[in-house]
Amino acid sequence: MSDTMLAVVLDAWGTSPVLREVPVPQPAAGGVLLRVTAAGMCHSDLHVADAPPGRLPFEPPFVLGHEVAGTVVEVGVEVDPAWIGRPVVVHGVWGCGECRRCRQGRENYCLERGPRIGNGLGHDGGLAEFMAVPSPRHLVPADGLDPVVAAPLTDAALTAFHALKPHVETLDDASRVLVVGAGGLGHFAVQLVAATAATVVVVDPKPEARELAATLGADVVHPGLDDVARSLHRAADRFDLVLDFVGATPTMLGSLELLALGGHVVVVGGAGGELTVGKNLGLPQGWSVSAPFWGPRDDLQAVVDLARAGSLHAHTETFALPDALTAYARLRAGDIRGRAVVVPGDPRD
Ligand code: NAD
Ligand code: ZN
Ligand code: ZN
Repeated sequence: MSDTMLAVVLDAWGTSPVLREVPVPQPAAGGVLLRVTAAGMCHSDLHVADAPPGRLPFEPPFVLGHEVAGTVVEVGVEVDPAWIGRPVVVHGVWGCGECRRCRQGRENYCLERGPRIGNGLGHDGGLAEFMAVPSPRHLVPADGLDPVVAAPLTDAALTAFHALKPHVETLDDASRVLVVGAGGLGHFAVQLVAATAATVVVVDPKPEARELAATLGADVVHPGLDDVARSLHRAADRFDLVLDFVGATPTMLGSLELLALGGHVVVVGGAGGELTVGKNLGLPQGWSVSAPFWGPRDDLQAVVDLARAGSLHAHTETFALPDALTAYARLRAGDIRGRAVVVPGDPRD
């Protein structure tokens, strides 16, 4: 095996990622080395690359890619060698495993995590031929799944699932849910909401995204929030739940304004929007808003199980690793339907 590998590296804040040779990582004691079989490209990667110094707690340089499927090829000391050869996906938010949040299975809200979040977010990620994972605790077996389908489950589907989960029990056949943005995350959310009894309305300015949402179970699609607002004729037409996968001020405020009394907005998107919170803003009484982050390992297992059962579909466009920067440019231009997934292919000898 060569000592170096091709990887997509963010060298400094506010710069474009670059493709270059880096050393092949070694598995740490207690960790594993994966050969990456597929890595999804998240819109967050663009927010991360664009961030000014100090906005995020971790520091470049690091290899991007936080949606990773791979095969275990080496294990560190004290790791069961039975892992070798197993296809897995990576739960990418690497908590301490011991604090009270981690003990509750909420590692995505670890209290002791430190500045680096996980693979591709401070630690080296999966837009490369190989990736080290510090513990098999972060792996979920993915036997029987196409890696291209499996990779986007680790963030796009997991985050959508975690965002919806607290609200699922409140939804019945009279409930109305609005999904704002049917891209990488949103196209999974549409399917998860469509699996409930609720009516699913989707808004996305891109015709291809609306078309995809309609095929995945959206009852109604609109190009803009204004169109949604114009379609509401009675109080009962308003929304019990909005999942905002954009997170710009106009989508966040626009979503709150479309709520039914007692409704809730989940802000998932990280476009930098801000809201003013107060009691006398003229918003529908009982409004609430939350901003969940990624998701716990149990929820990743749940979305892997749904995909295996054929109940969750990943719409993907694949790219070879040398074409990863083209894929980022396409993502930035809004020219990807579903998720862009990089397939590194067989490593060089
Ligand atoms: P994406 O680019 O794949 O999809 C975004 C979609 O939103 C596109 O279809 C786009 O056409 C649509 N859109 C853009 N402006 C819109 C508007 N004004 N109204 C309605 N739709 C609009 O992005 P993605 O990878 O799905 O990520 C979505 C957001 O979620 C990003 O901001 C990303 O950083 C964030 N994110 C958050 C978490 C979290 O844990 N909270 C995790 C992953 C991603
Ligand atoms: Zn992401
Ligand atoms: Zn912890």
